[in-house]
Amino acid sequence: MHKEFLKVKVPSGADLELPLYVVHTLILGSGAAGLNAAVQLRANSMEDILIVTEGLQMGTSINIGSDKQTYYKLSLCGAEEDSPETLAETLFAGGGMHGDLALVEATLSARAFMNLANLGVPFPRDRFGQFVGYKTDHDPRQRATSVGPYTSKEMCLILIREIHRLGIPVLEGRMAVSLLTTGEENEKRIAGAIALNVNDDPNPAGSWTSAFEVYFEESARSAMAVLFDWVIRKEVAICT
Ligand SMILES: Cc1cc2nc3c(=O)[nH]c(=O)nc-3n(C[C@H](O)[C@H](O)[C@H](O)COP(=O)(O)OP(=O)(O)OC[C@H]3O[C@@H](n4cnc5c(N)ncnc54)[C@H](O)[C@@H]3O)c2cc1C
Repeated sequence: MHKEFLKVKVPSGADLELPLYVVHTLILGSGAAGLNAAVQLRANSMEDILIVTEGLQMGTSINIGSDKQTYYKLSLCGAEEDSPETLAETLFAGGGMHGDLALVEATLSARAFMNLANLGVPFPRDRFGQFVGYKTDHDPRQRATSVGPYTSKEMCLILIREIHRLGIPVLEGRMAVSLLTTGEENEKRIAGAIALNVNDDPNPAGSWTSAFEVYFEESARSAMAVLFDWVIRKEVAICT
């Protein structure tokens, strides 16, 4: 990742210099999903990662609890038969998931769960070391596990410890306001974002314009420059 500055002429005619971060992989948000994405990318040799988030203490995962917050996974205990396809069928039967996504989630379930267990999330085991499970909701098997009322909070705290240990950079106090895309139709993809740095006080004129930051990947630089100009003018016009 490296930081540059972008010059933009805003609708009032004033010139602004906005921070621009060029990074291979930008992760927006630091819930269980974002934190785990960062840790797994690094484990798979992706060095150039940046997490941009409202805050490490913000979001659902680290702030909620329930009587017994459940982590649902492939069965890993006793003689009960389970398989990625069987788990995918259960996920699909709920009616809220595409079959291909259900199969990917089921296929990666054991690996994802073991990653968390190996990082130190204290999922319960029996005296043989098996990860015991229980039945939850409409589950036909005993695939559920829990570390208590704050399972996702425990996961986040351990993942935060890991991203610090791995030295993955995190920018807090940022609110993403636009995603930047390149390509058209089936080739269209996200390649950047614009965020407000809400750590910065508005400038004396009461404008938020100085708080905008831009992030995008190097390979999209030429396309981004054009798009960025259009988007930032629109966002600045809304925020001033
Ligand atoms: C009471 C309750 C009980 C639950 N029980 C269970 C359960 O038993 N089992 C289960 O599997 N699930 C349960 N869930 C659901 C589960 O907690 C969530 O699905 C999960 O935590 C979502 O994780 P996430 O990382 O996707 O999102 P979050 O944890 O919400 O993370 C989102 C992150 O993005 C950041 N963010 C959001 N918008 C922006 C923006 N514009 N710019 C920058 N950053 C941004 C947030 O600050 C946060 O850091 C429960 C949820 C609740 C509320």
